[in-house]
Amino acid sequence: MPTTGLASIIWSASGLLKGPELQQARSPGPAPDKALPNIPGQPAPNDPDAEFEQRQPSAISCRACGQPVTNERFRLQVEGQHGHRVTNPHGIEFLILCFSQADGCLNAGHPYRQHSWFKGYQWQIALCRRCGAHMGWYFSQAEKDAFFTLIVDRITD
Ligand SMILES: [Zn+2]
Repeated sequence: MPTTGLASIIWSASGLLKGPELQQARSPGPAPDKALPNIPGQPAPNDPDAEFEQRQPSAISCRACGQPVTNERFRLQVEGQHGHRVTNPHGIEFLILCFSQADGCLNAGHPYRQHSWFKGYQWQIALCRRCGAHMGWYFSQAEKDAFFTLIVDRITD
């Protein structure tokens, strides 16, 4: 059929024109610093989040309920470090990681300036949006970008 012939010519032409652009777009970016470890283990049966996590391997989730709370791409360095070892006024030590966003968290309570681990920042408790588990803290300051710190033990690896 003439229509098919014409269509195939257009396809070829557009393929030639767009070839280099496509190749550029498809070329792999810089390799990640390190490959994520392949964690063995089967997802729990009847767990709808297990499937969701498989579709989004870069999601970081609540360890208690599996709700995705943030993503690898939101990892952030604050005061030159991604991870911080901190101690609260009750003497309890936490290892926390900083993230620029954590949409799966809900901030609770009023912002406090007392006992802030980051100078000039006020803090609020950050809870899992789904199960209410304490995930970490939200830090904000008028002039600077806000960020989340999530407790290592409360999130998936
Ligand atoms: Zn949760």
